[in-house]
Amino acid sequence: MAVIYDCVVVGGGILGHSVAMQLSEKYPDLRVALLEKERESAMHQTGRNSGVIHAGVYYTPGTLKANFCYEGNKATKAFCKDNGIVYEQCGKLLVASDEMELKRMEALLERTKENGLDRTRLDAQELREMETNIVGLGGIFFPTSAIVNYAEITRAMAKRFQERGGEILYNAEVVALSEHARGVKISSRRGVVETNYLVTCCGLHSDRLVKMLGITPNFVICPFRGEYFRLASQHNHIVKHLIYPIPDPSMPFLGVHLTKMIDGGVSVGPNAVLAFKREGYNKSDVNLRDLKEMMMHRGVRKVIQKYLKAGLVEFKHSFCKKSYLSLVQKYCPSLKLQDLQPHPSGVRAQAVSTDGELIEDFLFYNTERSVNVCNAPSPAATSALPIGAYIVQQLEKCWHGL
Ligand SMILES: Cc1cc2nc3c(=O)[nH]c(=O)nc-3n(C[C@H](O)[C@H](O)[C@H](O)COP(=O)(O)OP(=O)(O)OC[C@H]3O[C@@H](n4cnc5c(N)ncnc54)[C@H](O)[C@@H]3O)c2cc1C
Repeated sequence: MAVIYDCVVVGGGILGHSVAMQLSEKYPDLRVALLEKERESAMHQTGRNSGVIHAGVYYTPGTLKANFCYEGNKATKAFCKDNGIVYEQCGKLLVASDEMELKRMEALLERTKENGLDRTRLDAQELREMETNIVGLGGIFFPTSAIVNYAEITRAMAKRFQERGGEILYNAEVVALSEHARGVKISSRRGVVETNYLVTCCGLHSDRLVKMLGITPNFVICPFRGEYFRLASQHNHIVKHLIYPIPDPSMPFLGVHLTKMIDGGVSVGPNAVLAFKREGYNKSDVNLRDLKEMMMHRGVRKVIQKYLKAGLVEFKHSFCKKSYLSLVQKYCPSLKLQDLQPHPSGVRAQAVSTDGELIEDFLFYNTERSVNVCNAPSPAATSALPIGAYIVQQLEKCWHGL
């Protein structure tokens, strides 16, 4: 006889843990389990990111991203305080290096006003006074941005979930799902379980879980590796804030930034290189199944065509350290090649639609018995608490047949 749960959450990143914790705290009598394919939690995106509690600078007003990030910024800090987790509210500086970026900066100022964010516009002199090692024509300061270790937050969520009787099963990769009138049958590497309701938060594999439910998703997950360096420790105090370039709005990612880390170091990056393996953390990683699935997808081929030039430039920065350095020297000219030391990379799970769009907003797909997170790129770590609460609401709707 398979074990029967009220709800099973698949995926042990920050989103899966947020849902499991909030569900078990709101409904202590439910039998809830979390299934994770690795030997511990947070081994993929959640444990390999920049560690920024974002303020919500870039997102289109009214989108899930804008709303959840705004709420998540406050909720994450409150969670850290309640659970004894260290975070640092260092603030973030966006730096315009040329006239074009100054123009883009004005547009961003407008957008951040609509999103209700605290921010201050700086001229070149004020910028220099705030950050002596940074140069630019102007900037915007966002005081609410902060840094934290998201793997630590995830472990705290796991602890709270387990204290409520929640079960976490590691090495339990889900390989098949079958939804029926009364629930979902889950086949995993640790056996078969039955659940009344299912939540999947599987990051780089989210499309595969949706397919297991018998649905043909109108997107595919495309992995983009973010490669970092770490500054040599004598530069740990080179900046007081997080330093970001003004992003090009036609590009999906934020540009290489200087990020203070909660361990006291400073990371440089990440870039955004198309990866040939979903969990391909090294340049040489290739997985034929992942590659074939990507290349067979019409949407991915369109994206490659659309961003071909930018993509090739990213490969150049990836393979040539000097060219990577030039991206940071634009605003931090004193840095030298020998200052860039190795640091682990991360891989972003980016959903690409069949039409060839990089899906910007968070995306969920519900069936009668399941809620599936399909696209949860940055700032999903910042937004994990409101996303978890939203999924619990979606489950409640499923229970009431709404
Ligand atoms: C380079 C980089 C920098 C980033 N920087 C930031 C930042 O500064 N701030 C921010 O807010 N966000 C940032 N993000 C985004 C953030 O890290 C992610 O959005 C967030 O961690 C997503 O969490 P998740 O739980 O959905 O995914 P993940 O952490 O990837 O977790 C998914 C889990 O599902 C498991 N899984 C997959 N398939 C199965 C299966 N079949 N059976 C069982 N388990 C399975 C995986 O093993 C994994 O543990 C960054 C991301 C990257 C890659």
